[in-house]
This record gives sequence, C-alpha cells and structure tokens, in this order.
Amino acid sequence: MATTIEIDNTITVGALAEQLMIPVTKLIAELMKNGVMATVNERIDFDTAQIIVGELDLDIELAKKAAASTETVRQKQVASDKATPRPPVVAVMGHVDHGKTSLLDAIRGASVVKSEAGGITQHISAYQVEHGGRQITFLDTPGHEAFAALREHGAQLTDVVIIVVAADDGIKPQTIEAIRFARKAGVKIVVAINKIDKEGADLNKVKQQLSEQDLLIEEWGGDIVVAPVSAKTQEGIPHLLDMVLLVADVEDLRADTDVPAQGLIIEAHMEQGRGSVAIALVEAGVLKPGQFVVAGSSYARVRNLETTAGKPLKEAGPSTPVIITGFKTLPEFGDTFQAVNDEKLARNLSAEQATIKRHGGGRLDINSTELIRMINRSNEVNELNLIIKADVQGSLTSVIDSLKALDTEEVVVRVVGSGIGAINDNDIHMAATSGAIVYGFHVPMPTNIKQLAARDKVSVRLYRVIYELIDDVKAELENLLPDEIVETDLGRLVVKGIFKTTKTEIICGGEVTKGKLEIPALVKIVRDKETLAEAEVTNLKRGPQDTKEVFEGEMCGVSLATTARIDLQEGDHLEFFTRTSVARKL
Ligand code: GDP
Repeated sequence: MATTIEIDNTITVGALAEQLMIPVTKLIAELMKNGVMATVNERIDFDTAQIIVGELDLDIELAKKAAASTETVRQKQVASDKATPRPPVVAVMGHVDHGKTSLLDAIRGASVVKSEAGGITQHISAYQVEHGGRQITFLDTPGHEAFAALREHGAQLTDVVIIVVAADDGIKPQTIEAIRFARKAGVKIVVAINKIDKEGADLNKVKQQLSEQDLLIEEWGGDIVVAPVSAKTQEGIPHLLDMVLLVADVEDLRADTDVPAQGLIIEAHMEQGRGSVAIALVEAGVLKPGQFVVAGSSYARVRNLETTAGKPLKEAGPSTPVIITGFKTLPEFGDTFQAVNDEKLARNLSAEQATIKRHGGGRLDINSTELIRMINRSNEVNELNLIIKADVQGSLTSVIDSLKALDTEEVVVRVVGSGIGAINDNDIHMAATSGAIVYGFHVPMPTNIKQLAARDKVSVRLYRVIYELIDDVKAELENLLPDEIVETDLGRLVVKGIFKTTKTEIICGGEVTKGKLEIPALVKIVRDKETLAEAEVTNLKRGPQDTKEVFEGEMCGVSLATTARIDLQEGDHLEFFTRTSVARKL
C-alpha cells in the first residue's frame, strides 16, 4: 500500500525532496520535464507536488495537512450556539446624485460628536454609529460594483442595503441596478426616500415606482420598509436608523467572539509616517493590538488598532470597522484577514497565499514583461489599454472589476497599469508607450504632470463618480467596435428600356413598382431574384426633368455609375437602397 505523506498547501522543492527521500536534483529534473522551473528554495503548490509525485512512481501519496489555512478558518464563520448578537452592517446604494454621500454624512454627523470627528479623514469607507444604545456599521463604497466584486470573492459583507431614491427624481437605472444587486445578494432592503425637503418631492410617485419593481411597501400590504428622509435637514434620520435596526433584527445577526479574529479588508493605502494603513471589518472574534494577522499575501503585527475616526481601540469585536497599521505590504480590498498565534505562522500563511497568487489564483498584478506581451500581442480583438489610478485600494479594485465586466468578444479592456495615488510621470510615460488612456478616480493631477501629458499627447481623465468613469470607458470601447452597416430599402423599378450601356454608365428607364426611388441611392440589379451587380444612382429623371424622387406607379429614367459592363435587360429589376454605417453600442 502506498505511503501517505502530509504536506502544507505549498512546500519548497528542497523540503519536498527531503520528505520523499529522493535527491533534490531528481525532483528538479522531474519538475523541469513538466515545464516547472523551480529552484531548491522555491515553493510549489500542493497540486503541482501531487502531479510530480505521481510521475515519479514512488508509491507515495500526498495529502494536504489540515493546517489552519485561511480557507479552513473562514469556513468556521458560521455562527455557533455560543454566538452573540452583533451590529448590522449596512451599505447605502442608489442612483448618482440621489444623496448617498450626503446621507452617510448626515448619519455620521448626527451621531458623531464634532470634536471626535476631528480625526475623520476625507474618505471614510466604513464607520459605526450608535443609535438607541445600539451600534450600526455603515459601509461606503464607490459603487455596488464593489460589493459585486466582493461577492465574486466569496464574501458577503452587508446585512442591509439602504436604497436611496431622491423624492424629486424617482427611480432611475442605477436604482434598479441597486435593487437587483441587493436581491441577488439576498440582503434586506430599506428604502430611504431622500430630499423630502425639496419642492417637487413626490413620495407617492416613488412608492408607486417601487411597486413596479416588485418592492411593495408596508403601507400597501408589502414588506418593504420605506423611510422618508432629508439628508439636508436631517429630518427622518433617526426613524431611518430605527427601521434599519428593525429589519436587521429579523435576521437575528450573531457572531462568535471566542474564535480567532477574522474579517475582510475593505481598503488599504500607504500613509506618510504610518506605513500601510488598512481598514477592515471584523466579522468574528475579537481583534486586539499586538496580535498577528494574515490578510491575503500580507501579514501584520497589529501596531495600531483604531476606530475609523482614528480613536485607539483596545479591542474590536464583530461588525466593527477598524483601522489596522503594521502590515508588511499592502493587503488588497476583498482579502480576508485572520488572527494567528505567532509570527511564523503568519509569515508562512501569507507566503502561501503569495504563491497561490503568483500561480494565477489571485488578482492580476501586471509587471513589465506582461505589459510588453500585451502590447505585442496580435490584435484579434480590439483592445483598449488603460491605466487606472485611484485614491484607495477599494476604489481601485472596484473600478477595475467593473471595467472588466465591459469586455465582449470583440472589444476588451486591458489594464496595463494601475495604482493608488496621484497621477505621476511614470503613468504618463507608460501611457505614452502603450497608447493607453489614464483614468484617475478621486485622485489629483499635479500641474507638471498635466503639462507632461499634453506634451506626450496622453489623454488623462479624472472622475469622481464611478458610473461616469465606466460610461466613458464604455464609449471608448464602442469607438473600437467596427461600425454596423445598415441597408435601408427604398423602392423598386422594373426596367422597360435601355438607352445606353458602357463600362462605367447605364442609362435606362422603367416603372416604379414599389416604394419610392430617391437620390442619392445605390441599386442592386436583380434578375430572376438573383443580384447581378450593384451600382450607384447618379441621376433620376421624370420625363425630361431631373428629379430627387419618383413614386410608385410613375415612370422614370435612371442613370447609374458602374464599375464593369453590365448586360442590363428589359424586365430586370433595380432595387434602390441606401447604405449607411452606424456606430455600434455595447
Ligand atoms: P450621491 O451621488 O448619491 O452621493 O449624492 P450626493 O450626496 O453627492 O448628493 C447630490 C446632491 O444632492 C448634492 O448637491 C446634495 O447637496 C444634494 N442633496 C443630497 N441630499 C439632499 C436632501 O436631502 N435635500 C436636498 N435639498 N438636497 C440634497
């Protein structure tokens, strides 16, 4: 019977050879035979190891060690019997300009004491407020694409979605998208009808429109809670928060606190003097300063643990958004994090994730060889090269993920570079060499860079609204689509006399049997339903007079420009049509 050897998710070539009790050169040779160029100290993943061991015919079977890998711990998140209640996590979505940001500000302003707000940075991606002695966690995202992206990565962040609809504008395409998203994600919906202070606010109309989207409000016998609010005057905000809690209570939200702290990274950026700063949402367990945490391919000894308003925390339990400093490298938006016992384990687990990512398991990090490959690649499809810069990792990820969703079989988006922070000379240089457009989301462009871009003829576009950025990219992609050729039939004529045929010209006459003949137009010369040739109409005559149009039943003369001699005969048909090219839409 085969011997079973347990190994981790990844293992160095040297260690594997040792476990297999074979010379490392033999293992390296076998790897090479299989196209894997690895040195003694390089790590290979479990699957590769398994294949190689099979090839070596050693009568050894590999099994994965049941290590506390990110995957296994994450599965434990299903709350146990001992789980305790946790605050709901709420996201605000809706059409642009309907007041998402204002509402988030109003909710925060209503609950955060001004002096405490001193530490609030411009962009807060998550915060917690107290209402009626209970906590509610709010997440701000650049758009629900962020959530869609997260869902793709297997995470479910929110419990409740507040859909904001402006009372004076009603339901719009992005409102419908948000509703669809919330439904798909299976989260509770509360509708905030905002801007009720405005003239033209029409609550009933919005309620009616909601019902058209199958969101039947309580008042009308449904189960959708509606809260009229004004982010401007703060009217209705306490009621909205009451409703959020009420809806959340139905879910009986609980989480375990006696498990290793774990959750999700929702933003990460570098800050001068503080190094990497990550904003994370604790989902289970209790996070404390000094603990070791792994997040994707990065790890940290938590140096500072703070509220998102910058207040130091001694510990953070489930549903708490926190700032963590101390990560060795920047974790990524959507990475899960978990606390582990010691640094060695943290280091190993993050290295393991890094290997998996390098082998294509993670998000694409484009390096220069990749870039060259992309630029040199033959253009079977039309590619739009882009460089994306954003203020924070979360925005960057969601912009890129949303753009990737635009790809079709004919046109694709290629992100040849991306990063966090202001647009710099490197971006312009890269854009100039790769023919890319630079998009900045919530980032500035220094004047000298603007000049550089103008000099190098690089198009740089700055956006603050994700949908607008996406629409712009969409328009660029549409420009790459070959035009659609549209032919419109005008009318038909039966040839009754032929006056002249040369290589380049035909003059004939006949009767319009269908439709209306016009000029300019093209004709198909048809005999017995078969098209013999195409020609261009150069003149139309009704009697001796030139005319622009001739109607059904009328007789007329037609001059055609041809490219070859056509043996036109009486009884042939001329089918008049126009041909235009129409720009296509995605
Ligand atoms: P977002 O795009 O959904 O984040 O919308 P914003 O929060 O940026 O708001 C868009 C515009 O609507 C801004 O000019 C706000 O001042 C205005 N606005 C937002 N809420 C209200 C409100 O309750 N009443 C009034 N009168 N204006 C509002």
